[in-house]
Amino acid sequence: FDMFVLAFVERLFRPTYGKDDFVLGKKLGEGAFGVVYKVSFAKKPNSKKEDDLVLKKATEYGAVEIWMNERVRRACASSCADFVYGFLENSSKKGGEYWLIWRFEGEATLADLMQSKGFPYNVETMIIGEVQDLPKGLERENRIIQTIMRQVLFALDGLHSTGIVHRDIKPQNIIFSEGSRTFKIIDLGAAADLRVGINYIPKEFLLDPRYAAPEQYIMSTQTPSAPSAPVATALSPVLWQLNLPDRFDIYSTGLIFLQMAFPSLRNDSSLIQFKRQLKRCDYDLNAWRTSVESRATPDLRRGFELLDLDGGIGWELLSSMVRYRARQRISAKTALAHPYFDKEGLLALSFMQ
Ligand code: ADP
Ligand code: MG
Repeated sequence: FDMFVLAFVERLFRPTYGKDDFVLGKKLGEGAFGVVYKVSFAKKPNSKKEDDLVLKKATEYGAVEIWMNERVRRACASSCADFVYGFLENSSKKGGEYWLIWRFEGEATLADLMQSKGFPYNVETMIIGEVQDLPKGLERENRIIQTIMRQVLFALDGLHSTGIVHRDIKPQNIIFSEGSRTFKIIDLGAAADLRVGINYIPKEFLLDPRYAAPEQYIMSTQTPSAPSAPVATALSPVLWQLNLPDRFDIYSTGLIFLQMAFPSLRNDSSLIQFKRQLKRCDYDLNAWRTSVESRATPDLRRGFELLDLDGGIGWELLSSMVRYRARQRISAKTALAHPYFDKEGLLALSFMQ
C-alpha cells in the first residue's frame, strides 16, 4: 500500500509532459509492441547532448512497462536506463498508445559492440576512456569480458532484489551508458514484478527463443493462476523461493557470457545451433564441450582457453549459469561473489599504467 501512496506523491511533484513537448528524431528500433525514437525537448533551444531523450510509443504492454520503470527508478535506478516519464497519449488513435521517455544513454547496445570485429577491445576503450598500450591477448580479453559480466550481473541483482524478473535479457537489451561508463539494462516490456503480481502470468510469446531458458513457464505450472495484487504481495516471497524465477534471466546472461567468449557463437544461427547441440547433450555443458572439443575450430579452442584461465573459474561460472534446472543455477548475487570476479577489473588496469 505504501508503495502506491509513494508512487502517487512522486507523480504529483514530477513535471508532467505531453505529446507536444517532444520533437521526433531518428528511429532507433521497431519491435512487435512499439516503436522507439531518439527525441529532444521542443522548448529547449540550446539543448546539449545530455538532453537527448528516447521515446517508445508502445501498444497494450506500455502500461506495464511504465509501471516497471517507475518502480525501478525508486528501487534500483542504476540498474536500468534513466526513466523520465510515461503517459497515455490518446489524442490521435482510438484507444491511444503509451509514450515512455528515457534519457538517451548512448549509441551502442552490447549487441552492437559484440558485432564489431574489435570486440572486446572496443568496450575497454569505452569503459576506461583511453586506448591501452598493453599487449592484446587472452588475459586482457578475459579481463574486459569479466568487467562486462560484473556490470550486467550487478544491474540484474538490483532488479532481482527489487522483485523484478526481466525475462528478455539479451545483448540488444543491454545499453552502454556513456554518462556512467557502465552497461545498463533496458526494455522492461516483458518484465514481471512478483512482489505485487504485476504481469504475473508469463506471456510465452514475449520470450525471445534465442536467449530463453528451457523452462516454458517461469513460475511452475503448479502455481495457481494469478492472485489479485494484495494476495500476491503476501505470497510472492514464498513463490520466489519455491520457483526461483530470477534464474530465467541468469540462463540468458550465461548465453551472453558464452557469446562473448566464443566469437563464432555471436550470430543467431550459430547460437540456435548451440542450443540444439546442448539439448542433445541433455543440457550438460561439459558433455557439450567434450562433443565439440575434438573437432573444435581454432575459434572454439580459443574460447575454451579463455574460460580455462586461472584454473578454469570462467568455465566454472559459465557452467553454473547455463544449467537445465533453474534451482541449480547460481543467483546474480552469488555470481558476483564468484572467484571469477576476484581479480581486479578494468579500472585497476588503467591505474597500473
Ligand atoms: P523494443 O521493444 O523495440 O525492443 P527497446 O526498449 O529495447 O525496445 O529499445 C529499442 C532500441 O532503442 C534499443 O535496442 C536501443 O538501441 C535503443 N534504446 C532504447 N532505450 C535507450 C536509451 N535509454 N538510450 C539509448 N538508446 C536506447
Ligand atoms: Mg528490446
